[in-house]
Amino acid sequence: MDTTARPSTIRWEESEDGVVTLVLDDPGQSANTMNAAFIDSLDAVAQRLVERRDDIRGVVVTSAKRSFFAGGDLRDLISVTPATAQQSFEAGMRVKRSLRALETLGRPVVAAINGAALGGGYEIALACHHRVVLDTPAARVGLPEVTLGLLPGGGGVTRTVRMFGVVDALRTVLLEGTQYGPVDALEAGLVDEIAADPDELLAKARAFVAARPESAQPWDRPGHRIPGGTPSHPKLAAQLSALPALLRKRTGGAPGPAPRNILAAAVETAQVDLDTAFVVEARYLTELVTGQITKNMIQAFFFDLQAVNAGANRPKGVEPGKVAKVAVLGAGMMGAGIAYSCARAGIDVVLKDVSLESALKGKAYSEKLCAKAVAKGRTSQEKAAALLARITPTAEAADLAGCDAVIEAVFEDTSLKHKVFQEIEHVVAPDALLCSNTSTLPITALAEGVERQGDFIGLHFFSPVDRMPLVEIIKGERTGDGALARAFDLVRQIGKTPIVVNDSRGFFTSRVIGHFIDEGVAMVGEGIEPASVEQAAAQAGYPAKVLSLMDELALTLSRKIREETKRAVQEAGRTWEPHPADHVVDRMIDEFERPGRSGGAGFYEYGEDGRRAGLWPGLREHFTKPGSEIPFADMQERMLFSEALDTVRLLEEGVLTSVADANIGSIFGIGFPGWTGGVLQYINGYDGGAGAGAGLPGFVARARELADRYGERFTPPPLLLRKAERGETFTDF
Ligand code: NAD
Repeated sequence: MDTTARPSTIRWEESEDGVVTLVLDDPGQSANTMNAAFIDSLDAVAQRLVERRDDIRGVVVTSAKRSFFAGGDLRDLISVTPATAQQSFEAGMRVKRSLRALETLGRPVVAAINGAALGGGYEIALACHHRVVLDTPAARVGLPEVTLGLLPGGGGVTRTVRMFGVVDALRTVLLEGTQYGPVDALEAGLVDEIAADPDELLAKARAFVAARPESAQPWDRPGHRIPGGTPSHPKLAAQLSALPALLRKRTGGAPGPAPRNILAAAVETAQVDLDTAFVVEARYLTELVTGQITKNMIQAFFFDLQAVNAGANRPKGVEPGKVAKVAVLGAGMMGAGIAYSCARAGIDVVLKDVSLESALKGKAYSEKLCAKAVAKGRTSQEKAAALLARITPTAEAADLAGCDAVIEAVFEDTSLKHKVFQEIEHVVAPDALLCSNTSTLPITALAEGVERQGDFIGLHFFSPVDRMPLVEIIKGERTGDGALARAFDLVRQIGKTPIVVNDSRGFFTSRVIGHFIDEGVAMVGEGIEPASVEQAAAQAGYPAKVLSLMDELALTLSRKIREETKRAVQEAGRTWEPHPADHVVDRMIDEFERPGRSGGAGFYEYGEDGRRAGLWPGLREHFTKPGSEIPFADMQERMLFSEALDTVRLLEEGVLTSVADANIGSIFGIGFPGWTGGVLQYINGYDGGAGAGAGLPGFVARARELADRYGERFTPPPLLLRKAERGETFTDF
């Protein structure tokens, strides 16, 4: 390979007093990544440093980009196959040899971290003797690999274990993938100093160099011991036995090999010398990158998320806009959360309910969240006070004057929603965006309650609003492109991820999660142990157990939605297909008076304080039949397939228009397991676990099998059959 042909991505700047500054600066790129040119440059620079060692006083590593270093190139990683794995393994080992030369140079080496140093970026910093970070919100540090199904294979496991000890490395950096801001990073020991501005950053780095003629890593000094001991130490051995529990807590026992590999790599690298450790961690990484789950996760959590947030679905040609003042109608659970999220983003909020008392109660929710954030040091007293000052509670429509957007969150009732919009349509700004947070009512019909139907749109938030990252935007039949673009911008303004769907009963998210819940409930009706049903959901990777989710939603609400849908289907002249879950729900409500959590009794029992106790023993008495158990894989796949198949139907119906929206919406909105990469990527990457073959053809075969055993609802829809026949997958590109 002709390495001289590639331009260097690392600039060598040498001062008169012998301090070399290595400026990471990939020419023509917006960020530095671990591409082939970088690997060559790092190698060349390391050799030159070793050769010039005697006339160099020290080294400062920094970057000319906004971020310090962006890490591995995910496009390369996602395309690694077993055939190319050895090549990428060797490239990784080459990087580690170069970084090792840097840290054993004998001269002080300092990382001057001017922006984000995540993953590979932080691994470079770990190979330095000292880390100074610039105090800016963009300068996050950490090893978030686990969140993409990866493992820090560039020395990240080996060095953090030697720095923090096995258990603390796992807890603080490796298993959670936390991205630390400068202050938290200092506190957690990820960096050594903070600098107020770029000049101070370099000054502090140079001061470290000036103060030392020599420098070495703690693990290269004689007598170094891993903090907390090696895994053979009895005390650590005791702590280690608690780690699988930590792991289960983090993954819910769900499939997804990254946390497991990280745990194994941390333990093993602690017991061997550094060079062997580098090989060990690289082997564990290779196993991950060649697997389907990691590819799924990179696709969803990086590429799809980026496409969705960048506005692949936002109408082009509409100027970006910002909302200054929003009216939130209804200060209940959702309205209160929406008000908080808007105020946190710097938007003035007028929070209206039927009485000032109710509106104040809604604002109290923000007060509670702010107090908590201050107590935990996540915000300052002043910032919290400013946030609260932006929320004006009221019962008077006149106070809504000048609002440039309205978000309605009153009870789920079409005529009430019509009424509240009539009250305020002429009070707010004449071109205000009109949004409803309905979770089930068709937007086109709701829009009929206002004069400017082109400005009316669905903005479906999820509960709890302050923590849920997704908003589903629903375009009604008469919604204009301008309104869609403004709604998109508003969702981005409050820092959430918008997916866009066309109007339909239940939209995408509410309709699809309904299938998951119904499938779980149907199994109870078939006589399967309720505890097995819950376990199947958890082990498939669902964050919430299925029966507990039904309780949260309320069985009564589920029945109400069913009745409304049934009426609409029949009015449209189509046949209504009952679901086997229906009779279970009906018996639970009518015979056993268990309407769900809000009613104090559902599939679960609830204590006086509303806390969930165990599953209701009556379930076993009235529903469970010995001998009705089915294979565990069938239980899990009935849940996963029911959601995936209906998502394909939604694509066919034109409710969904993008694969990325479906994947992101399913993971971030309704808890479809993250290891799948989302509800359509699950079909693409279907691994034929139950022997049906892989990919779309395997998925189709398995769906037919489930249809034979459990009902026609598993029959693969025509779009899926067509794609499988043509050898296609679900993709936007
Ligand atoms: P909620 O019962 O907690 O709150 C509704 C609020 O609206 C109450 O405070 C009530 O006093 C107020 N209200 C009633 N009439 C009003 C009027 N004329 N003017 C002003 N305020 C009025 O309900 P919620 O759970 O917050 O749900 C609100 C909306 O959000 C519903 O359409 C619901 O379907 C939707 N939604 C709910 C969830 C959820 O998880 N609960 C999720 C997404 C969307």
